[in-house]
Amino acid sequence: MHKEDQLVSRITRALPSVSAHHHFQSLRVGIGDDAAILSPGGPTDWALSTDAFLEGVHFLATVHPPDSVGYKSLVRAASDLVAMGATPRDFLLTLAIPASQTGTWLRHFLAGMAQAARSLGMRLIGGDTTKSGSVSISVTVLGEVPRGHALTRCGARPGDLIYVTGKLGRAQLGLELVLNKLSRRPQFQNLLRPHLYPQLRARLGEWLARNRIASAMMDVSDGLSTDLGRLCVASKVGARIEAARVPRVAIPATLSRALKKSKQSSIEMALHGGDDYGLLFTVPPRRVNRLRRAPGFSDLTAIGEITRGRRIILVGVDGSESPLKPKGWDSFGQK
Ligand SMILES: [Mg+2]
Repeated sequence: MHKEDQLVSRITRALPSVSAHHHFQSLRVGIGDDAAILSPGGPTDWALSTDAFLEGVHFLATVHPPDSVGYKSLVRAASDLVAMGATPRDFLLTLAIPASQTGTWLRHFLAGMAQAARSLGMRLIGGDTTKSGSVSISVTVLGEVPRGHALTRCGARPGDLIYVTGKLGRAQLGLELVLNKLSRRPQFQNLLRPHLYPQLRARLGEWLARNRIASAMMDVSDGLSTDLGRLCVASKVGARIEAARVPRVAIPATLSRALKKSKQSSIEMALHGGDDYGLLFTVPPRRVNRLRRAPGFSDLTAIGEITRGRRIILVGVDGSESPLKPKGWDSFGQK
């Protein structure tokens, strides 16, 4: 089992808690999905989630521009609302920061966060600040979704088609540029952007939820192999995906030589690379026709289908079948 998932289940066992998909008073979805869903009555349900972004773990103070740190810390959190089909609305920011970074660094950090807030239509409604030895950011986000329409991870059924948005592995390629100290080269700036300034598919997520097109949905934050595994566990199903159909980042020839050390091919980046924040969702065959009206339809790709049994199979370009092991990002795993 994923080490991070093990830690989460230990925490939930130790505390009074409500797990996903067990209704409890006004709670519709608890721990184990992208966000919790509260249904206080009335036409609107609330999606609630929180996310930590830490110096030395999620970003490097010497490498990552402060406006990207600000932008990304809000976008990462909001992605879990989009993953439920909710519309992001409000957020709380807890910021722990060294006194030495309250000048220029903080100004750029806030400018980046403001850019993300404006593009998502979100407002700050509270938070906390404290002095600390290094930067640590915690963002709590609140979104709304029409009552009963939130899309969870648990609705996928055998025969449903599996879709992803955009090209996968783009953020991983950007990260490789950073790790290989190539991020300052002007010719690679466009390839760096998906890592520094990921774009969410908020309109698509809302549309899929409002029109009840998808049967299950989540965001791809830790990598397709890991996140598809989680969706299948939640839905108690398996999956079969075709490598040839997985939309993947293109690595320019000039760059693949420079990245020799990382040894990752574009299909490996697409299958296991994290931080893309696109959507992964399933659609029953009878609703596939309606998907053509989806916002950004041309950017959607069917990569395979949900199966009975619990196995996740990758069909190679040569037709060979192998189990797809979860090799995405794991905070507590050894990579
Ligand atoms: Mg998520």
